[in-house]
Amino acid sequence: MQDIKEFNLKELRDKLLNLGSHKYYAQAIFNWIYQKGACEFSSMSNLPVSLRHALALDFYILGSALADLQVSSDKTAKFLFELKDANLVEAVSIPVSSRLTACISSQAGCKFSCNFCASGLKGFKRNLTKGEILDEVLYLKNNAKVNQLTHIVFMGTGEPLDNYDNVLEAIRIINSPVAFNIGARRITISTCGIIPGIERLNSEDLQIELSISLHAPDDQTRSRLMPVNKKYPLAALIKCCHEYTAKTNRQITFEYILIKGINSGLVYAQKLVMLLKDLKLAKVNLIPANPVFELKIFPPSQEEVNSFKECLFKAGINVTLRKERGQDIDAACGQLRLKHEKK
Ligand code: SF4
Repeated sequence: MQDIKEFNLKELRDKLLNLGSHKYYAQAIFNWIYQKGACEFSSMSNLPVSLRHALALDFYILGSALADLQVSSDKTAKFLFELKDANLVEAVSIPVSSRLTACISSQAGCKFSCNFCASGLKGFKRNLTKGEILDEVLYLKNNAKVNQLTHIVFMGTGEPLDNYDNVLEAIRIINSPVAFNIGARRITISTCGIIPGIERLNSEDLQIELSISLHAPDDQTRSRLMPVNKKYPLAALIKCCHEYTAKTNRQITFEYILIKGINSGLVYAQKLVMLLKDLKLAKVNLIPANPVFELKIFPPSQEEVNSFKECLFKAGINVTLRKERGQDIDAACGQLRLKHEKK
């Protein structure tokens, strides 16, 4: 049995011809799965019954099973999925006014071991397939209660640029008008700073958004928080960002988690200004840390958060403060999975 979501439209047309059917049913199948949320071939009522039976013998639509679901009082919902090989991955749906953002995972576990992140605690298991990434999007779309799914961010477990091909193929389905039809500018890849991946993204014909997990303005602090900085240090990363914005003319968002006692003092804000001051198309998104007790990670005081933001703002940097979401569930990345793996 194969995951039918592994195939793009052209490949599915070829599969249908191999089954002795007509290739024009491929678009109808896409429509059923990605637009109507069908999880069974038997429900595809405009397909011949014989084709529905043939598809059900060779393919499946959803490979992952929902293992847990936590819903916060602010309606942020955290989904835990069990993959066919029993690995667990998380996805989060975040409703904000008329938007619904799906934060999805690209790998089971993570090899980059950022020391504020629960996702890396159990190490790296494997890349998610294109179909498994699309499972997350399908589940979240089908479970959307009030708003329709409008935005996708690859900010869940794993490093998307370390699973480049599967992530990009999934994005092409997410973006396709005959599939999820979510605009490229509503799709964000968030990376810990994998320079070769950013350089590859430069040459894609997709207008997707790029976000970089920065979290510190100097190599010493960043290497302590994010070991990947030893391989791709700040000077090289920022040079790569200059090249990216020059080539694409697109803004880069720098994510900065404010962690009490680590990177939240005013001196770090001043260093951040120096680091980014020449990068015209840059935005900084400040995120007070969600507590991760296992890692002794806590947010700074509101006063410290305000002073940090003010320093950037006064220096002319485009800065936003992300509102904390899902505080009453296991909101930090990797926490829900960690809880289940401890059981
Ligand atoms: S922050 Fe991202 S890259 Fe770092 S360990 Fe967590 S999932 Fe991996």
